[in-house]
Amino acid sequence: MTEPSPPAMPRRQLGRTGIEVSVLGLGTVKLGRNQGVKYPQGFAIPDDDAVRELLACAADLGINLIDTAPAYGSSEERLGQLLPGPRERWVLCTKVGEEFAAGKSHHDFSPAAVRESVERSLRRLRTDWLDLVLVHSDGNDLDLIAHSGALETLAELKRAGKLRAFGMSTKTLAGGLRAAECCDLLMVTWNLADESQLPVIDRCHQLGTGVLIKKALASGHAAAGGDPVRAAFTRLLGHPGVASLVVGTIDQEHLRANVATARDCIRGDPSTPRSS
Ligand code: NAP
Repeated sequence: MTEPSPPAMPRRQLGRTGIEVSVLGLGTVKLGRNQGVKYPQGFAIPDDDAVRELLACAADLGINLIDTAPAYGSSEERLGQLLPGPRERWVLCTKVGEEFAAGKSHHDFSPAAVRESVERSLRRLRTDWLDLVLVHSDGNDLDLIAHSGALETLAELKRAGKLRAFGMSTKTLAGGLRAAECCDLLMVTWNLADESQLPVIDRCHQLGTGVLIKKALASGHAAAGGDPVRAAFTRLLGHPGVASLVVGTIDQEHLRANVATARDCIRGDPSTPRSS
């Protein structure tokens, strides 16, 4: 007797972008970088077979959103090589403005650097288009929005068909509130130990700006005791402005458990009409 296939992963609209994302996305820092990261334990970067299996598992579970960045070491290149096709089944999110080399971050948000970065991401990810591109903020959100020209350059690249939607991964409350007004989507930190950006998420919801959550499990520091993953997913996915939690993992068992928990947490939720 064959195993019944798992029910489809619920999806939500990403603001007004017209793009549907699985309520759980896969964060891929750990596919390409293990230096200068804030996880509780050190780890080895997984080999190609392990990454292939992890991505196949994500596909089987119905995850369509993959988050990467030039600052995540070899993550983009490895996804370009190892992500199973077809391209249309994935929503690829990458970033501009930060590079990580020789153990250090470097930032360049100039229009020329943004254009070069997007072209390089297209090559590395082996695709003709990027779905989502975010300014990878260094913390100076307001200054970047007002003076760098990065968002305007992403808007031009969107008009040129290189990407479908753009925004910013913000770090500050004031910057997030401003970015909510001029972006298609934001990536915002929210977890049970840090609710400081909640007003940004509320504002995005009012405006129809899409929201992806980073660090939903406090980068693996989510408090022990009880079921911290369930507690976090229930609270975060309960917000109608949140489209997806981008959770990082290189452990297939964690991925499967997280998907099961996310599905459980939103059962019967009217904001996820495609939930099974
Ligand atoms: P996170 O998703 O809060 O936590 C990831 C950590 O939690 C990993 O070390 C993972 O370890 C662990 N984990 C996952 N599921 C688990 C489970 N069921 N039980 C126990 N541990 C579990 O933090 P993050 O990786 O920092 O952020 C997520 C993603 O957001 C990143 O990968 C990246 O794509 C994005 N991000 C963006 C920015 C930005 O500035 N734009 C900054 C940070 C992150 P295992 O590998 O062992 O599962």
